[in-house]
Amino acid sequence: MNENILLVEDEEALRMTLTDRLRSEGYVVDFAGDGEQGFDKATRLPFDLIILDVMLPLRNGFDLCRDIRQAGLATPILLLTARGQTVDKVVGLKLGADDYVTKPFDTLELMARIEALLRRLPARAGQGLFQFGPVRIDVRGTKVTREGKPVYLSAREFQLLRYFAEHAGATLSRDDILREVWGYDAGTYTRTVDVHVAGLRQKLEKDPKNPELILTVPGLGYRFEG
Ligand code: CA
Repeated sequence: MNENILLVEDEEALRMTLTDRLRSEGYVVDFAGDGEQGFDKATRLPFDLIILDVMLPLRNGFDLCRDIRQAGLATPILLLTARGQTVDKVVGLKLGADDYVTKPFDTLELMARIEALLRRLPARAGQGLFQFGPVRIDVRGTKVTREGKPVYLSAREFQLLRYFAEHAGATLSRDDILREVWGYDAGTYTRTVDVHVAGLRQKLEKDPKNPELILTVPGLGYRFEG
């Protein structure tokens, strides 16, 4: 499985150099030249990683990062910031970016950061077909449909849904979920789970505010109901 990367960068020369380099590493690359097109692609197409330049026409990288998160997408985001924008880096991470690299960057360094972010995705192979009400999950085909219509999930959302499906009916703590789906130590990024659950509810529940599939168990975590 090749990871799909969206590169949002308005400098054409850098965009082309980076695209070539990423493709030579085996990644599937799509790109956008401004913030609006970036938002459109980021929220419409499945990507495993998004690289965002901060200085962009129409919508800057910080706004874009926040908007992508607010749209319910959990795709890892790597920001390209300008030299000396220390405050900006902090702002970027607060807005939901996962990492940043300062321009001008060393390509090897960038590739290492990209690999590190993608490694967080569990690459478990497997099979199985689950049907929960209107939601159908095809693990081997990594496809999810709702009432027969395809649902777009990021790679992490898919792994989370799969974990839920494999443990349907059981109450799962945020710590369990973080450890099993993200490989993180317990207690550090528990909000990540909530954000991803919210994203899944948005995409899978008839009424995301009154979920019937992914239930909150107060004080404990979540339970996936078949
Ligand atoms: Ca730029």
